[in-house]
Amino acid sequence: MAERRERVYRLVGGGCAYCGRALHLHEAHLDHEDGVAAVAGAPDHELRCVCADCRADKGGRTGSEYRRLRRARQAQEMLASLAGR
Ligand SMILES: [Zn+2]
Repeated sequence: MAERRERVYRLVGGGCAYCGRALHLHEAHLDHEDGVAAVAGAPDHELRCVCADCRADKGGRTGSEYRRLRRARQAQEMLASLAGR
């Protein structure tokens, strides 16, 4: 598993697939579009690296569900900051 993580890390360039934060190899967690359960049987090119925060936050969601959630939160924060002016 550790070797696999290193292969994927080198393949994707070492940034979190969701928040974009630069990751060190030891911080990178493997993630799959369909969820963590799909990581085990998936080929390397279907995997990506994510940070621990995004991995925990994503939970059982798929990649597209989680990206939608992140966009909705960003929109809410933007509206809140506009309303506060
Ligand atoms: Zn992240």
